[in-house]
Amino acid sequence: MTRTKLLAGNWKMHKTPDETEAFVRRFLPLLFPRVDVEVALLPSFPSLDRTGRLLAGTAVSLGAQDLYSEPFGAFTGEVSAEMLRACGCRYVLVGHSERRALFREDDPLVNRKLKAALAGEIIPILCVGETLTERREKRTEERVLTQLAGALIGVHAESLSSLVVAYEPVWAIGTGEASSPEEAQAVVHRIREWFDALHSRTVANRVRLLYGGSVTPANADSFLREPDVDGALVGGASLVPESFARIVAACPKAA
Ligand code: PEP
Repeated sequence: MTRTKLLAGNWKMHKTPDETEAFVRRFLPLLFPRVDVEVALLPSFPSLDRTGRLLAGTAVSLGAQDLYSEPFGAFTGEVSAEMLRACGCRYVLVGHSERRALFREDDPLVNRKLKAALAGEIIPILCVGETLTERREKRTEERVLTQLAGALIGVHAESLSSLVVAYEPVWAIGTGEASSPEEAQAVVHRIREWFDALHSRTVANRVRLLYGGSVTPANADSFLREPDVDGALVGGASLVPESFARIVAACPKAA
């Protein structure tokens, strides 16, 4: 089963709309057309609308970094799936470790946000991953599968195939200390087995599993060659057009 690789750039709280536009204008000409690779840019909320207009008609997709679990209402400061769709978003991050740690997002909230994304016809990129302490205590698998199960409670089987799960060890995010490709492969393989056992072989074969955590142009290829790694969620290295384009170029061609 061939799964289109996804390289998603999570810009976190960086770049104004003008800076985002300058990035897009430099980045697009650096990309060589690839049907086996999808690229997505995830700028901050104020840049979404303009980025969506710039990317319309190109091969690059737009994504957001978060959304709220309700469709509308008195939720000052929050943004709904429908609003993201109106800006052209195809993807949205759900449960990024920074949101879990800094904004106290727990599995039930992640579950509600993920369902809100699906209801709004936006593909969730569900982030899961263990902390350094959990890794030292050899609880990686338990932590990742608990987050996965919690986020997917009540999600219909037919929605699962389009889902993207990003395995992002918390200790590897923004630290320059990436996981080893072998370890990343072992964890994402375990996630695929989990989908097979709890849902179906079809879902397990279709769901895309990314690795994230200090991916750079120098190490991207080693992760993207692993059989169960269907792409990467890239933070810091996606902020510079040449660097992100080199990561895209490092993606091995589908057999
Ligand atoms: C991220 O923010 O999801 C991430 C993986 O960041 P970095 O690539 O900088 O580690």
